[in-house]
Amino acid sequence: MSLPPSRLDLATPGPEGVDEADFVVVGSGAAGATVALCLAEAGADVVVLEEGPHVPVEARAGDVFTTVKRQIRDRLSGGMTGRAISPVIQGSAVGGSTLVNSAIVWRLPEDVAFQWDRLPGLKGAFPYDELVRYMERIEDDLGVGEVPRDRMGRNATLMEAGARALGFAGNVIRRNVQGCQGSGRCLQGCPNAAKLSLDLTYLPRAVGMGARIYENCRVSRLTFAGAACHGVEAELLDPESRRPLRPFRARARRGVIVAASAIQSPNLLRRSGLGRALPRLGDHFTCHPGTGVAGEFDEPVRMWSGATQAWESAHYRPEGFKLEAINLPPELAVVRMPGAGREMMHRLARFDRMALWGFQVRSDARGTVRPMPLLGGDMIRFTPSRRDMGVAARAIKLLGEMMFAAGARKVYLGVHGLPDEVHSPDGLRILDRMELDPRQVHMMASHLFGTCVMSPDRSTGVVDTGFQAHGLPGLYVVDSSVFPTNLGVNPQHSIMAVAMLAARRIAEGARVSR
Ligand SMILES: Cc1cc2nc3c(=O)[nH]c(=O)nc-3n(C[C@H](O)[C@H](O)[C@H](O)COP(=O)(O)OP(=O)(O)OC[C@H]3O[C@@H](n4cnc5c(N)ncnc54)[C@H](O)[C@@H]3O)c2cc1C
Ligand code: SF4
Repeated sequence: MSLPPSRLDLATPGPEGVDEADFVVVGSGAAGATVALCLAEAGADVVVLEEGPHVPVEARAGDVFTTVKRQIRDRLSGGMTGRAISPVIQGSAVGGSTLVNSAIVWRLPEDVAFQWDRLPGLKGAFPYDELVRYMERIEDDLGVGEVPRDRMGRNATLMEAGARALGFAGNVIRRNVQGCQGSGRCLQGCPNAAKLSLDLTYLPRAVGMGARIYENCRVSRLTFAGAACHGVEAELLDPESRRPLRPFRARARRGVIVAASAIQSPNLLRRSGLGRALPRLGDHFTCHPGTGVAGEFDEPVRMWSGATQAWESAHYRPEGFKLEAINLPPELAVVRMPGAGREMMHRLARFDRMALWGFQVRSDARGTVRPMPLLGGDMIRFTPSRRDMGVAARAIKLLGEMMFAAGARKVYLGVHGLPDEVHSPDGLRILDRMELDPRQVHMMASHLFGTCVMSPDRSTGVVDTGFQAHGLPGLYVVDSSVFPTNLGVNPQHSIMAVAMLAARRIAEGARVSR
């Protein structure tokens, strides 16, 4: 039985600006909300500090501008720099990115768990049977199931037809949604409380068990007595201007759990002066860079009608990429359309006939995450590898072929230096002959991994198998920054399952023997 979407009662900071609990959790997203709930269930007193605002269902805006301004980190201006500049998209709100994501649920692939198990010192660190039990619980709690056929929308059914015509496998997407009305607005925060994001489920449940959640509360540094972490210093932010209003402190009797995402977690630790103690902090960063290919059909597609994401194919995961249909509002979809001025207006006039299908690469490149000097914010250095760009070229061509097989009259490749429009499958052959440069394709990333990697020793990683930072008792990291590799599938489910594993180990003070 799935949890009913519930109202969230937030804690109000007192005039003294202090709280104290067994555990202080930084971040309320997929990892933070899950670890908070599990620790509360284990009988611990928990405080959660979240930099972003709470956005109740009735306050969710339909327009992209308000969404981006209020609940997307850095108002969507953050990105990775390397050979190209690529946007990194992260939610910053109570519920974290689960408020604004597409709710796609994929179990941690067994081959990935097997790969992790064979890494030096990680035997038994991510026990697959235990993780499967947690994933089953999450699927039950969050009502995970396939998008109903009558809510798929034409964008998704055309993609399904394209794949069928080319003879490869795919499936209707499974999501943590109950009663989807097919409004295609998941990325703005579901206005119908159908998406069971964690602000509507795990966080209210944790509050019911005594947890206290503070919104607009940005943790600026961790505090220590000797090597032991015993709390955090934070700032309460003005909800409109995002400027600091006054300080807030939280003391942790048993530990501080950093769950601020694979970008903000390592940077919070570094800003707290741990760069020397943890020499691999912010290294090993990786992600799933990807983008969309648009096509124009003779028939109406109407991306605004249907679940945001409803059909996918992991058929080519062994080759390093995954395909998904995605319904975007015109303000975002327009990024995939070439041209400007009158030409762009002409194309936009046919927006109702446009389909958009995306790919994500399981990158083999590695980058770094560091705090931005002077300005604040995050500096992500990452360049997709030559192999990644080869995979991207293959995926773009395949999506084009699928579009034509489904009846598209033209495909917008979205590759600089190539024709804006291609009118037949023959026109796609150009992709066979070229080596794509990262500057030619505007890829972006929202699946982020590996900056506080789990490893038996601090010369190769940041946390031990008990999720504790090496040599720093009471400091834990539990989000996808600890993942030894990326996944090749959507990560929310794996992050939540690993957070449950972390909660058990932290509550028990357990560590897998080396
Ligand atoms: C648009 C979008 C669509 C996506 N779609 C899917 C999907 O369909 N399926 C899927 O599996 N995955 C999806 N993802 C990815 C998935 O949502 C994330 O991988 C996952 O939520 C990451 O979990 P997390 O807990 O590490 O970080 P988040 O969920 O991002 O939460 C981190 C939280 O920590 C807070 N925080 C950061 N620093 C501080 C600080 N100093 N003090 C206090 N709080 C802080 C942030 O504000 C944020 O709310 C999507 C992501 C995005 C952005
Ligand atoms: S498609 Fe619409 S109704 Fe369905 S989960 Fe997304 S926002 Fe909610």
